[in-house]
Amino acid sequence: MRKASFPFSMMKEVLMRCFYEKGLAFTCVSGCNYCCSCEPGYVFLSQEDLQRLCAFTSMDEERFIRTYCRLVNMGSFSMVSLLEKENYDCIFLTKQGCSVYEARPRQCRTYPFWRSVMENEESWEAEKASCPGIGKGKVYSKTEIDEILRQQTGQEPIIRL
Ligand code: SF4
Ligand code: SF4
Repeated sequence: MRKASFPFSMMKEVLMRCFYEKGLAFTCVSGCNYCCSCEPGYVFLSQEDLQRLCAFTSMDEERFIRTYCRLVNMGSFSMVSLLEKENYDCIFLTKQGCSVYEARPRQCRTYPFWRSVMENEESWEAEKASCPGIGKGKVYSKTEIDEILRQQTGQEPIIRL
């Protein structure tokens, strides 16, 4: 659920060498909020994310975007991302954790098994610098990882012209 540092990373289609044939370990570390805070980043929303969050907060889409989102200027278009607080915490991060956990965006649900991270073993290993949970605890099988990757297909961020 780390905030993306580069907006196109989620959309990048890659040919993956299967370095994770035997699975990969990952367990989110209790008390760690690093990927929801600490540094500037983006949590881009797909249309499905927006609908899920609107249902959770009982808001319509335009009101939700006005209240909790920003439009990130990409030149000829903008993408919808969650707001950050001044300290770079996600707008939904509280002392108790994510306040919209059940409805959190797919970007948050699928981390660290993002296409950009799963590109190869080197990118997976490099991501350990950003997440202390990588390489620890539950082992996700190749089938589980492939399913998480599949869930990201067709979940492109909302684009506004
Ligand atoms: S352990 Fe990783 S996934 Fe969990 S909060 Fe920390 S950085 Fe995020
Ligand atoms: S929506 Fe929740 S899980 Fe995602 S970055 Fe914000 S606080 Fe973290």
